Amino acid sequence: MPAPRPSESAEAARAAALQAEFNEKKWVWVPDERDGYLAGWIHKEEGDFGQIVLKASGEIRTVPLYALDKMNPPKFDRVDDIADLTFLNKASVVNNLWLRFGSGNIYTYSGLFLIAINPYQSLPLYSDSIIQQYRNKRRDENPPHIFAVAERAWVNMGEERENQSILITGESGAGKTESTKKVIQYLAAIATDVHPSHSRSPTIGSSSSIAALPRSDSFRRGHTVSPSISSGSGSQLTARGRLGLLERQILQANPILEAFGNAQTQRNNNSSRFGKFVRITFAPDGSIAGANIDWYLLEKSRVVVRSEAERSFHVFYQLMVGGGALKETLLLGGGVEDYEYLNKSRREVDGVDDKEEWAALKGALDTVGFTAAEQLDLFRIVAAILHIGNIEITSARTDDAGMPDPSQAERVCHLLGIPVAEFIRAVLRPRTLAGREWVSQARTQRQALEELGALCKTLYEKSFGAIVDRINVALDRPSSKSTFIGVLDIAGFEIFEINAYEQLLINYTNEKLQQFFNHHMFVLEQEEYTREGIKWEYVNFGLDLQPTIDLIEASGNVIGILSCLDEECIMPRATDLTFTNKLHGLWAAGQENGHPGRTKYQPTRFDQGFIIKHYAAEVEYHTTGWLEKNKDPLNDNLTRVLAASSDRYVASLFAEYADAPTTPSGPGGPTNGFAAGKKRGIKKGAFRTVGQRHKEQLSSLMSQLQSTQPHFIRCIVPNSNKKPGRFDVPLVLEQLQCNGVLEGVRISRLGYPNRLPFVEFRQRYEVLTPGIIPRGYMDGREACRRMVKALELDEAIFKIGTSKIFFKAGVLAELEERRDLH
Ligand code: ATP
Ligand code: MG
Repeated sequence: MPAPRPSESAEAARAAALQAEFNEKKWVWVPDERDGYLAGWIHKEEGDFGQIVLKASGEIRTVPLYALDKMNPPKFDRVDDIADLTFLNKASVVNNLWLRFGSGNIYTYSGLFLIAINPYQSLPLYSDSIIQQYRNKRRDENPPHIFAVAERAWVNMGEERENQSILITGESGAGKTESTKKVIQYLAAIATDVHPSHSRSPTIGSSSSIAALPRSDSFRRGHTVSPSISSGSGSQLTARGRLGLLERQILQANPILEAFGNAQTQRNNNSSRFGKFVRITFAPDGSIAGANIDWYLLEKSRVVVRSEAERSFHVFYQLMVGGGALKETLLLGGGVEDYEYLNKSRREVDGVDDKEEWAALKGALDTVGFTAAEQLDLFRIVAAILHIGNIEITSARTDDAGMPDPSQAERVCHLLGIPVAEFIRAVLRPRTLAGREWVSQARTQRQALEELGALCKTLYEKSFGAIVDRINVALDRPSSKSTFIGVLDIAGFEIFEINAYEQLLINYTNEKLQQFFNHHMFVLEQEEYTREGIKWEYVNFGLDLQPTIDLIEASGNVIGILSCLDEECIMPRATDLTFTNKLHGLWAAGQENGHPGRTKYQPTRFDQGFIIKHYAAEVEYHTTGWLEKNKDPLNDNLTRVLAASSDRYVASLFAEYADAPTTPSGPGGPTNGFAAGKKRGIKKGAFRTVGQRHKEQLSSLMSQLQSTQPHFIRCIVPNSNKKPGRFDVPLVLEQLQCNGVLEGVRISRLGYPNRLPFVEFRQRYEVLTPGIIPRGYMDGREACRRMVKALELDEAIFKIGTSKIFFKAGVLAELEERRDLH
């Protein structure tokens, strides 16, 4: 054997020195407001308090003992999988991430999660040779990586003929969308690698030894794997140039979605203002058969307003800067500064050239197959919105909104294919039925402007939906034989200064996704214990979050927040305040009738709102504007005009209103689609509240996810300055709390989180029990039994299975310590 290189022996010496230093003292993590946690050692214990000497400063602090967390021995520094830490506490989790991030490792496993920390710099981690490195390899054969997750999904799909999903969450700027792209990049590359001559892919079905491994998270504590297990076909992957048209179309769908669905925000220069679930379908031979996209909760209000430091959706600027001759067709003179919907806030993004992006968008539309006419349709809507924003509304008295210069409305109507007179009347003097009589309703300036704003939001959202539909037409090739890998890119838990209806919907979504995770983890753990013949009374923590979910979504006998809001939306004279009071009333009644969510709700004391206990945190919601946001009203005079447009595209966007009778409904006041739909009994699905729609979409998403084998990725933003190399510990801790990583750690601690195969346990710790195991062969299980007896371990802290020994958190650290002292 060659002598170790100097660096290796230096490394070993350093490790030994660290361990020696560690053994001298009782090391702990001390909570600290600014830094999260500080390393220190217990100098003295007095009653419930400890005097701690801080390692960095030598300062002595007196801290209650319960607040201290035990530190893992240095051997555990930078472990690939946080689940391998023997002391599983917040401080150790975040310390491990910090150490790894500092040495360029942005990916870390935490049991079932892959944690990805946004590096804010481009790292050489995604080349074709790296793809090759992860091909046909198991998770523990390579450093943690998003490609390993994609690989595992692909392999599992092939071997088990089961659909897969990859759930990516995290807060804004954490890297969800980038991660989604990496997954799709990997899948497109490896699927292209499937040669048509192979009836099956090199991996699918060929590596039975992988299939034989337990499906659960069994790759713990660095056991080595013989290379023969994973030797794949060795087929060569080459550059992306080899991708077929379908693969390129799938990749090119993204720039389209980003142009129309992303915007610059304070947190992220390319922030997705919608959620998406992208399913890539594969033929039985492992090649890509198609793709399909579902989308959720587009932040359409952004087309009208946003904070001053932010932009509207990218496409507006791209069109204005790059549009060239097309701008003339769309009657768009001047520049960004000439449009009211653009000139009130930021206009440029650092390092982004909107002209180049425009070219990229056009290229993507061409690749996906949008015809010139179809492209014009999309941009006509964008232009119409800009023109609507410039319509001037005046009023001399309070209720006589007027349009002094109809030429602006003429441009709008030209682009939308609708008669000017009808458009103007629908905005300024809509007709409604009062009693039995038709009356024209006077509008205030504000009402008319709001109507125009609402129109733009609806136009944009509907057009966005139509774009996704069109992409799906190009990509979706459903077939009964295909299986899919779905990638979910959706905003994580949000807690802002002021939390509105949008936050409730997103947090509700995350509560459901977390429950899905908890349940999945429960099932896998259960399977592992059963497989190992370990008896254990296990509480189904998959049900822990149900009360909060019921509080939000229950309907029927007991009603939840969303149904309550829906009911208020059809009540005459209801307001946000009556809604809030009704909620408080329901909650009070819930104390008696045992509403499952009653313990998760609390009225706020001073503001108009309430508090929900989510798994991540207690969040206070303010209910201002909820009725309007839920109804999402658009006056039906206007929708009917649009539904009758001479332009096919515009008419199709409003088709659901086309069969509405011409008699406006509702006694007095402007009608909204929802109330009108209820009264007329128009076909189901036409008019729904925002809450109803989201609940339905979410339930469809959940049932799809339930039919898949899931994989979980948690993205983390390391600092609030979009800077490389900075790691803000309190900020990261907050995210670990919200994204369920700590919840996963909590759950795993309920069981026996550290587990070792018998052989490994014996190899490592036999030194502690000399003479206990006779020379020669001995059954692994029996050897373990004898060893734990000799080690005098308490029965409660370990379990012996059929192939592995399981430990409660902390036990291995103690064994390690004993081993080092040996
Ligand atoms: P939002 O919820 O606002 O859409 P997000 O989680 O989707 O946020 P991304 O848009 O994926 O965040 O990432 C924000 C930015 O961070 C990217 O534009 C990119 O500059 C950087 N980034 C994220 N992930 C990586 C990565 N793996 N390597 C390099 N840079 C990255
Ligand atoms: Mg995004």
